Amino acid sequence: MRVALLSDVHANLTALEAVLAALPSVDELWVMGDTVGYGPDPSEVLALLQARNAYLVAGNHDRAVATGEGLELFNPVAAEAARLHVQWLGADERASLAALPLTATRSGVTLFHGSLREPLWEYVFDAAAAAPTLRLSTTARLCCGHTHMAALFQELPDGRVVARAARDGDRDPLVAKTIINPGSVGQPRDHDPRAAWALLDTEDGVVFRRTAYDIAATQERMRARGLPSFLVERLAVGV
Ligand code: ZN
Repeated sequence: MRVALLSDVHANLTALEAVLAALPSVDELWVMGDTVGYGPDPSEVLALLQARNAYLVAGNHDRAVATGEGLELFNPVAAEAARLHVQWLGADERASLAALPLTATRSGVTLFHGSLREPLWEYVFDAAAAAPTLRLSTTARLCCGHTHMAALFQELPDGRVVARAARDGDRDPLVAKTIINPGSVGQPRDHDPRAAWALLDTEDGVVFRRTAYDIAATQERMRARGLPSFLVERLAVGV
């Protein structure tokens, strides 16, 4: 089975459209949370993912926009964007975000946004943070998001956990127990502003990909909708 792994689309419709256009044929599309927040087009992104039958889990931004939960923990610009999204989305759209699961298992792969200890909030940036989640998992493959950094975290046969950043074209056969973070479609933070995603082949492993998109078009749309300029500018540099 082939699956497109997407995360942290963050209402960036132009980036999502570019990624969907770049995808080879896949059997499923999995999204590890933060479909909304930060960007200009939350309704359109939700509709497009629904039209493509994507399977979504909840991110902290999804939950904050849906219910207000955790909004007080956001930095001021993230909170401002989330409050705008609350205004822009309809009650039915917010209800569908509120109903997203915190964790899920699809075809023997565990999906979540942050970690298994704290699905909405914990950042798995390094091996120390990855280790408890790898230990908690009953599946050999896991997928997360939240950090906006494409990476692999693997438990070696001797029990050590290693972390590795993933660049465009990097592959892994997934022999070890592994957490895959495909990076962020809509707001990458590893200094490569191209949209990040990954292709999981359950027979063959994972390959990480980057796709260029019209960043200026997203920025124009963000300015038109009154989003904070810090959020507009960071897209061009990928931070
Ligand atoms: Zn995010």
